[in-house]
Amino acid sequence: MTVLQNAAKTPDGVTLNGFLLSPVVEQCSGCERVRRFEEQDFCSSYANPGSKWNGGRCNFATHIKKAQATTAKVNPLKASKRAAKGR
Ligand code: SF4
Repeated sequence: MTVLQNAAKTPDGVTLNGFLLSPVVEQCSGCERVRRFEEQDFCSSYANPGSKWNGGRCNFATHIKKAQATTAKVNPLKASKRAAKGR
């Protein structure tokens, strides 16, 4: 996994460019924006990943977009089944 660049360990926690970072949440698992630092996983885009998942999914989640692409691939199949019924 890619290491978080420019992060620093402070008495308050891990910071990046002056922002205090919170570790990623369970839903972030599999996202390409997860970065490792000091045995913990952080998001390269958000200081507080948990808030990105409050009331919905994170709009920057790379693993969710992949899941949607898989769903899109199913559509031509359905279309061909519909076409077969019409025959
Ligand atoms: S982009 Fe969203 S899903 Fe990915 S690690 Fe960051 S907060 Fe989690």
